[in-house]
Amino acid sequence: MKKHNFSAGPCILPKEVFKKASEAILDFDNSGLSLLEISHRSPAFVDVMEEARSLALELLDLKDKGYKALFLQGGASTQFLMTAYNLLENKAAYLNTGTWSDKAIKEAKLFGEVIEVASSKEKNFNYIPKSYTIPKDTDYFHCTSNNTIFGTQMKSFPNTDKPLVCDMSSDIFSRKLNFSNFDLIYAGAQKNMGPAGVTLVIIKEEILGKVTRKIPSMLDYAVHISKDSMFNTPPVYAVYVSLLTLKWIKENGGIAGMEENNNRKATLLYAEVDRNPLFKGFAEKEDRSPMNATFNLTNSGHKEAFDKLWKDAGVNGLNGHRSVGGYRASMYNALPIESVQVVVNCMKELEHKI
Ligand code: PMP
Repeated sequence: MKKHNFSAGPCILPKEVFKKASEAILDFDNSGLSLLEISHRSPAFVDVMEEARSLALELLDLKDKGYKALFLQGGASTQFLMTAYNLLENKAAYLNTGTWSDKAIKEAKLFGEVIEVASSKEKNFNYIPKSYTIPKDTDYFHCTSNNTIFGTQMKSFPNTDKPLVCDMSSDIFSRKLNFSNFDLIYAGAQKNMGPAGVTLVIIKEEILGKVTRKIPSMLDYAVHISKDSMFNTPPVYAVYVSLLTLKWIKENGGIAGMEENNNRKATLLYAEVDRNPLFKGFAEKEDRSPMNATFNLTNSGHKEAFDKLWKDAGVNGLNGHRSVGGYRASMYNALPIESVQVVVNCMKELEHKI
């Protein structure tokens, strides 16, 4: 039986994608060859890469607006240093909203002065700081749109004339935003876009070429752009599965369609968290993430009973991250609302049992 998969990432992908992805391993597009055995320079794979790059820009409404899409390796964690390597000449401003922002800050400090404009660390990152100023002499501003571990999401972004750099690993393609307000967006694929092993980077080209340091080729955005994201062997399978997922997003209403569904799922789950006296939400209400809902039992003595209920119901991956405890329901694009209903039913059942 297929589990109800609330895993935080790698995570559920659409079942149609799993099916097509598995077929391509045996026979890619009736070519008599597996996708895994063809050259990344073959016309068939070059088409995959080009379509994936183009579709990513199309879904974000960034076509013909000076942006390039790259599929790179090394995870979002490599972007923590690559952004600074390519953009930080003197000073950069960072908003600290959780573990991943913290890690990005640590890497950036290797390249120049880092100003932490605000942090929610003192409350274990259960909210998004709102009032802060971005220094005038900063090279760029960096933020994390969705905090996977703590279950918070930025609902608005600062109005700044500085390049806006954003880690969207856990909410890319999940909600409508004016993406042209951003100058660099990066996202590890393994949530809403595909399997682990590839990272999408969207860059407004005009922000490059401003630092004086020499950049090693593999870490230089300009090199990857000049080689159409084929500077070295790309992770062909991860790029292909990402393309399948991007097509699925397009066929299912694009980002607007995803957002509508995600809001429905989040409303269902948070309503039960707020109604049921046995549970309490972790994040401040106004900053709640529709992607990752974090909540705790009001009495930890009920843990064993609740865990048995959801495990018996075929639910996977509901345990919270160790730094928050409790529970985390990750409800990425591909998770059906029926799975959310199963968890809500378990929460109600716990209340009736006690
Ligand atoms: N940023 C965010 C928001 C994340 O959720 C994660 C991983 N879950 C990362 C960065 C790190 O990504 P990776 O493991 O691909 O380096």
